[in-house]
Amino acid sequence: MFKALVLTQEDRVTLANICQLPETDLPEGEVLVDVACSSLNYKDGLAVTGTGRIIRNFPMVPGIDFAGVVSESADPRYKAGDRVILTGWGVGENHWGGMAEKARVNADWLVPMPEACSADKAMMIGTAGLTAMLCVQALQNANIKPESGDILVTGASGGVGSVAVTLLSRLGYKVVASTGRADENADLLRSLGASEVMERSELEQDARPLEKQRWAGIVDTVGNKVLATALAQMQYGGAAAICGLAGGFALPTTVMPFILRGVSLLGVDSVSCPFEKRQAAWEQVLELLPDSYYQQAGQTISLDQVPEFADKIVKGQVTGRVLVKL
Ligand code: NDP
Repeated sequence: MFKALVLTQEDRVTLANICQLPETDLPEGEVLVDVACSSLNYKDGLAVTGTGRIIRNFPMVPGIDFAGVVSESADPRYKAGDRVILTGWGVGENHWGGMAEKARVNADWLVPMPEACSADKAMMIGTAGLTAMLCVQALQNANIKPESGDILVTGASGGVGSVAVTLLSRLGYKVVASTGRADENADLLRSLGASEVMERSELEQDARPLEKQRWAGIVDTVGNKVLATALAQMQYGGAAAICGLAGGFALPTTVMPFILRGVSLLGVDSVSCPFEKRQAAWEQVLELLPDSYYQQAGQTISLDQVPEFADKIVKGQVTGRVLVKL
């Protein structure tokens, strides 16, 4: 038997309960993993609270990521005792996920845990941190250099945002952190490496198609009007790595920044990101993220606390990253 957070639905209301389940209930897959920890991402918040239509088949174990140790494997790439990480691939959405003591998954979805990593560290980074690294790499690949100019990070207090602020500053970029919680989080964001903290409301104003040029690059986790305004403020030749929709999925912009300033939009997806790219991102994020990040911006909760924190994350009330200990 193993412990799991199980989501069910009654009259279209999602219910979350901790249950003891037999191993035979696990879905099919080649690799059985003893999960050490998972983490709470925005998508987990939507799934557990039933806010977004993330889950279509119930019962479902949420948890879009986990780290643990292989206990059985029918795939030659993994054997019992191997330490592994999983993020994405629809796990915790349409295949039972990481918020359980055991998970059975396809071998293709796993990444071997790098030597210098622990399960706790892997999930303090988690999907959000990996995505932040992919966004930074997208800007680097678009030739946005520290000397190109300021980089705006939106939703800076959140998981993706706070890791992006830290990584960019470690790489020598000048980072401007946009947040709706400057009163609460400005000191933290500065200590993570932001040169400037900006009120989100400044980017929620109506913008003209082109505004004064401010940003060489953007890491956007928010979307909607905030992103549209920031795009109107892009420097000539700038690039925006966009990965999120915490402020909504709309993008009320015009073609002007793209056709008159040569701005590039770089879409970033971590869910189906190919193995080699994902492995390289894991190596780089582990190398760049200082221990101080985990201490300043990480917190640990138990499985019982997931529903409470899920509610908070969808309301934009969680700062940094949340590790879920199994
Ligand atoms: P968090 O909740 O940790 O961070 C989101 C941040 O956005 C909040 O902390 C808050 O920052 C800001 N925010 C929240 N609500 C609003 C709002 N209504 N309007 C404007 N800003 C808001 O989430 P994650 O970091 O886990 O994820 C961020 C986004 O990235 C999500 O949309 C998520 O789905 C997406 N994502 C996408 C991935 C991909 O593969 N493309 C992978 C991982 C995440 P502040 O208070 O500082 O303003």
